[in-house]
Amino acid sequence: MSKAILQIDGNNFYASCEQMIDPSTKGKGLVVLSNNDGCIIARSSEARKMGIPMGQPYFKLKNKLTQLNINVRSSNYELYGDLSNRLMQLLRKNCEELEIYSIDEAFGTIKRPKGKCLYQWGKDLRALVYQNIGIPISIGIGETKVLSKISNQLAKKIQTNSGIFDIGIIQNKDHYLNQIKVDKVWGIGKKMSIWLKNKGITNARELRDMSSDQIKGKYGVVGLRIQNELKGNICIPIKESSSDRKEICVSRSFSYPIDSLEDLNQAIIKYVLIASAKLRKYNQLSSAITVFTNTNTHSKDFMRSEATEKISVPTSNSKIMIEKSQSLTKEIFKPYNKFIKAGVILHKLQRNKYKQNLMFDSKNIQEELYLQKLDNLIDNINSKNGIDTINWGSSIMEKEWGPRRKKLSSIITTNIENIPTIYAH
Ligand SMILES: [Mg+2]
Repeated sequence: MSKAILQIDGNNFYASCEQMIDPSTKGKGLVVLSNNDGCIIARSSEARKMGIPMGQPYFKLKNKLTQLNINVRSSNYELYGDLSNRLMQLLRKNCEELEIYSIDEAFGTIKRPKGKCLYQWGKDLRALVYQNIGIPISIGIGETKVLSKISNQLAKKIQTNSGIFDIGIIQNKDHYLNQIKVDKVWGIGKKMSIWLKNKGITNARELRDMSSDQIKGKYGVVGLRIQNELKGNICIPIKESSSDRKEICVSRSFSYPIDSLEDLNQAIIKYVLIASAKLRKYNQLSSAITVFTNTNTHSKDFMRSEATEKISVPTSNSKIMIEKSQSLTKEIFKPYNKFIKAGVILHKLQRNKYKQNLMFDSKNIQEELYLQKLDNLIDNINSKNGIDTINWGSSIMEKEWGPRRKKLSSIITTNIENIPTIYAH
């Protein structure tokens, strides 16, 4: 029995989520727009086939999209986050280890019975995910992370394989590795791929077979690791716990510039609340907070301003974070500027279990317990009834300058008000 590494990826994830909650769009063209309905950031496979490009400004393609009858949606991160959680939970149950890599990507491991192809296992998992969550996934299987990533590219490429590929049981992999361009190998950045191409290395097979001294000389262990992984030797292990993250950042662009301290404060408090709820969800505490804001990067008098404060007793408490952020916001605010974006970073994160209480200070402990209870209560209410069902008064956002989301889908998975009503006669 050996260990097989899987790379699992939601296909056109944001577009698939939108198609899942609105079945009338299934099998049809659909695009998702970035913050403030700016650019196209996701396309259903149908929209891709119709020639809609990625990253283009929405206003430029508006007419074409209407002509082609393509559905347009504002990005709905609440929905994508919720479906991502469900996807990861299901994958965790079906893999031995799981590393959540991004909102729609994970690495996993399972045992491989000697010489056995895992294609059927992958097919069953894919069907299970589709049945339970309604999202199509691709599964790449190999001996290492780098090979499983390549396997996933092949899974998407080879139509007859229905989204699954197992490179792990193939003895002579050359035929497949020849098809993968060197800049598509996981871990190879732009600079490195230019260097490799200048050396005549154009695909994954050539990278695997090139002199390791040469690659080590230029890129050290980092380059060597990728080459070794291509050879089938594990060098990049699976990192299971998502609670080992070192920082949480929440930032947004505004739909129009803001220039008052009051507005900036409200926005930042809102982001502090999102970030501290995340912190509690992952059972972590933060010991430093940064707030930042900036004006338009293209304007002549571009300005970015940030301020950081240490937190002496690590915490995940919303009230404490709000207080800290308010004084920091005062520091970063500069009058007569038009701010278009702001955010908050909670850093120096640690696991909750290592928490040190201020000893002998019972008044503090009592106050803290009270605040903890309050946070738990707010988190519970919001997780049951939808984000912002209840929150701190200071976070009430002026709807006008919140991000523009004209084409927002209803969030039927996270907000009780969006559940359709069915009448029986
Ligand atoms: Mg994806």
